[in-house]
Amino acid sequence: GLSGESYRRRHEITVTGDNIPPPLTSFDSTGLPLEILREVHNAGFPAPTPIQAQSWPIALQGRDIVAIAKTGSGKTLGYLIPGFIHLKRRRNNPHLGPTVLVLSPTRELATQIQVEAIKFGKSSRISCTCLYGGAPKGPQLKDLDRGVDVVVATPGRLNDILEMRRVSLNQVSYLVLDEADRMLDMGFEPQIRKIVKEVPTRRQTLMYTATWPKEVRKIAADLLVNPVQVNIGNVDE
Ligand code: ADP
Ligand code: MG
Repeated sequence: GLSGESYRRRHEITVTGDNIPPPLTSFDSTGLPLEILREVHNAGFPAPTPIQAQSWPIALQGRDIVAIAKTGSGKTLGYLIPGFIHLKRRRNNPHLGPTVLVLSPTRELATQIQVEAIKFGKSSRISCTCLYGGAPKGPQLKDLDRGVDVVVATPGRLNDILEMRRVSLNQVSYLVLDEADRMLDMGFEPQIRKIVKEVPTRRQTLMYTATWPKEVRKIAADLLVNPVQVNIGNVDE
């Protein structure tokens, strides 16, 4: 509608794709589950950020997304909250492996994502484990054995654990590539491609990136199906 259009103009949102739902400009209009709304309220957030406002309704339709927005724009909850709702709709037995998988370039970023996932997901009883290198595998393997809904992982460590056959990705139906540009800059492309081969093709794939160079466009074209592209502000190639 008209208000959706003016919100997009005001926040420099451009969207490419068919039948794009209007942005969810306030938490009252989101229809998010009450336990999640309560956490958002407790965090003191006044409104969804533009990337959240536009990517939530698209993600909730089950569509693939490429979202391009700069650091600090709220991308983490942009994909976690639809991931939580995805989990409510189709929660697998967590002992068979995670349903939601988030790939992240570094230990620090992966840990921040896990903190956010626990904070906003605990009242929905969503469990989250973080896998990263430079730390012993034992505790991470123990966490996996306890069963988990969401895994946040750096590509190197996840590949090591996959090679040990200590986790299965065949229940994953919601895959996020966060900071895709940084993961490629760090040389993780081969590991990412190996990991994605273990994720069923019947899945929803979301890619979040701060920049949109041709390497990122290439991997998006290979791994996503008919994605909606959401840009906030100018796209830096
Ligand atoms: P990005 O991944 O785009 O760099 P983050 O997801 O890390 O950004 O979010 C940046 C900060 O904004 C975090 O501290 C996060 O908790 C906060 N934040 C997320 N959503 C909102 C919101 N709707 N309103 C206010 N702050 C928010
Ligand atoms: Mg981020």
